[in-house]
Amino acid sequence: MSDLRTMSLTTRIMVGMLLGIAVGLILQFILGDEKDFIVPLGLFDLAIKGFFVDGLFNIGGQIFIASLKMLVVPLVFVSLVCGTCSLSDPKKLGRLGGKSLGLYLLTTAIAIAVAISLALIVSPGDNVTIPTDANYEAAAAPGLVEVLVGMFPTNPIDAMASGNMLQVIVFALLFGIAMALSGDSGKRVAGLFEDLNDVILKLVTLLMNLAPYGVFCLMAKLFTTIDVALIESLAKYFGVVIFALFFHALVNYSILLKVMTGLNPVMFWKKMEDACMFAFSTSSSSATMPVTLETATKKLGAKNSVASFTIPLGATINMDGTAIMQGVATVFISQVYGIDLTVNDYLMVIVTATLASIGTAGVPGVGLIMLAMVLNQVGLPVEGIAIIIGVDRLLDMTRTAVNITGDCMVTCVVAKSEGELDEATFNDPDAAKSLESLPSDKNT
Ligand code: ASP
Repeated sequence: MSDLRTMSLTTRIMVGMLLGIAVGLILQFILGDEKDFIVPLGLFDLAIKGFFVDGLFNIGGQIFIASLKMLVVPLVFVSLVCGTCSLSDPKKLGRLGGKSLGLYLLTTAIAIAVAISLALIVSPGDNVTIPTDANYEAAAAPGLVEVLVGMFPTNPIDAMASGNMLQVIVFALLFGIAMALSGDSGKRVAGLFEDLNDVILKLVTLLMNLAPYGVFCLMAKLFTTIDVALIESLAKYFGVVIFALFFHALVNYSILLKVMTGLNPVMFWKKMEDACMFAFSTSSSSATMPVTLETATKKLGAKNSVASFTIPLGATINMDGTAIMQGVATVFISQVYGIDLTVNDYLMVIVTATLASIGTAGVPGVGLIMLAMVLNQVGLPVEGIAIIIGVDRLLDMTRTAVNITGDCMVTCVVAKSEGELDEATFNDPDAAKSLESLPSDKNT
């Protein structure tokens, strides 16, 4: 009998994911159009949907996501303070900021340009007419001044409590710089933060051992309710988004990584497996952040001084996958409504979607809400979102995996350019296993 505990974590998560999808689809088949399926068990009746889907799977999935999110603020704060403090050179910090911001914006602009071009070639919106009376309010694009001022917290505790990651990042940076400049007192506090960092990372590792079960619950619940039939009617739109996501991730990222660092893209992809599966099953770059950070440092070999800055920043502002969906969706909606867009309009879409990705929170479905802003910008009916919302969840899962892959790719490039990438770790296939070294594993 093959023992679950001897399988690698990646395999266990994969098994959890596939089993969850299978169970979900089987339940969907059993339930059909019925609200629930009751199995009489003599003493009591067992409601399959009520007990498993809305009960067990729902609770398991929610707890899993909550425990991942629970780690985000402490992890980002502590590891960024440690990272900044160890940098100690403010010029280097400025360089890091400039490089990562520039690369994040560049990759997002490339992503959306590819998406629009593919959508224009395939024309997914021809022959689709889906009546809708849904109403969507488009959020106004925030002004630059507002964004800049909003990055500085008036109350850091409040920023942490509300999960405002840009504010947490700014506070951590300032705190880390002050610590580096504070001589002996700074050194004592730094020691404490390094110990805290070890403890939080241990918590991440412990939690990851529960991931296969969490992922199973999330998938089983989602696939019981997902509307598979709708995907058929929107197959072309769905296909173009998926193709563009894979193209950007596999081709563009590989080329950028190879050209800018000379690193092996195949190795990069092998190391990304776990993080991508987390992103896929949680649909949240923010919830995946603990795993992304571990991947960047322990598997890809980026030093914490770089990764602790680029990964939280990326999870907050870099959304290539989301921009791809927005590009294809804009073309699709313009075709469905028979509204022609000019070259200027497309340029506007590229700029707006790139900026919108900065404001897109890394949680499920937000990309679709930000799409309202993009559509508004070029005068397309925002109600068009209702046409694609039915198939968005699966796309959300895939684009979230692309979002976090982009964060890791940029982290490798920035780390390499700063001489902060340990290539031996990057090229070591076994470094992938380090995330799984749990005390319990040693007993088996
Ligand atoms: N779910 C995405 C993320 O967390 C955001 C989105 O596209 O809705 O990265």
